[in-house]
Amino acid sequence: MNQITPQPGIMDIALYQGGKSHVEGVANVIKLSSNENPFGPSPKAIEAVRDSATTLHRYPSTDHYSLRAAIGEVHGLDPERIICGVGSDEVLQFVVQAYAGVGDEVIHTEHGFSMYPILARMAGAVPVQVPERERVVDVDAILAACTDKTRVVFLTNPGNPTSTMIPESEVARLADNLPPQVILVLDGAYTEYVGGFDGGVSVVDARSNVIMTRTFSKIYGLGGMRVGWGYGPKEIIDVLNRIRQPFNLSTTALAAAEAAVRDREYVEFCRTENARLRVWLADELAKIGVPSDPSCTNFILARFADQQEAEACDAYLQQHGLIVRRVAGYGLPNALRITVGDEEGCRRVAATITAFKGGVA
Ligand code: PMP
Repeated sequence: MNQITPQPGIMDIALYQGGKSHVEGVANVIKLSSNENPFGPSPKAIEAVRDSATTLHRYPSTDHYSLRAAIGEVHGLDPERIICGVGSDEVLQFVVQAYAGVGDEVIHTEHGFSMYPILARMAGAVPVQVPERERVVDVDAILAACTDKTRVVFLTNPGNPTSTMIPESEVARLADNLPPQVILVLDGAYTEYVGGFDGGVSVVDARSNVIMTRTFSKIYGLGGMRVGWGYGPKEIIDVLNRIRQPFNLSTTALAAAEAAVRDREYVEFCRTENARLRVWLADELAKIGVPSDPSCTNFILARFADQQEAEACDAYLQQHGLIVRRVAGYGLPNALRITVGDEEGCRRVAATITAFKGGVA
């Protein structure tokens, strides 16, 4: 008799939802559900990808020195305190895998990123969800949820899907009051979209229990390359490097990311265009009675009358070739998260929601 069974807890892991990029029977689909950069990667990153092809017979760099040096130079950070992963997902995974085990607890907030509970369960740990008040990440509620089993606390700043910004003083207060065995992870996937925000470098620098993560999948337009990085205390980075596979990033991915991070002009172009189109889209939707939460990121959270209307609008958008993200699973049943697309994407989504609401498209 077959005795093959997965480890306890694995069947409790919900499959990740959200990669969908096609609608059966519908042509000309625009995906606005994964917060990708509609302008694509920097032309310099594309050139670097082409150039990297000549060295593909060699293994890639194991220490990612050149990419870490470039990130360090651009952001004024010590490369020795940077670790690179297959997307920031992998860096987040390293933290949970290295610091949380069977029966330990991993805290995330109600509207936090859906990978956090998945990563906790992958390590045999228990995800603990802390409720959020409307657009406020409640530091006291997080502290109250900590037990002697808590090992990791995840904070997304700015938040996904609400774009909530947590003030630095609150992040620092949280870090300073956590039990001594807990690591605070500041997930800054959308940091670059917020002008004048560095993801929490000074909070990290002043403490031994905080790490921040960043990604090349959003403003750098390299979601398909899977590159992310973390910045933290030397001791934590050293631990994470011990469980990192030596060749986790391909030669091509390393080359693309390095060229992308150095092309500051292109990053600025993407930030400015995104901000312009985000304001336009939010204004268009507000005019037809669909308000959205204030946003500092590359997505807006559009609010409908109730769950039924949000679901009906989602279905209507799909029929018209537009994929957006349902966020009922984040405790936001009446909302849809819409990535700010390019000009065509924004116009199409605004016109289609207008038609759904019964207006003239
Ligand atoms: N954190 C947040 C808040 C995200 O929204 C995402 C991507 N959806 C990630 C992390 C992971 O990004 P990646 O693995 O592509 O770097």
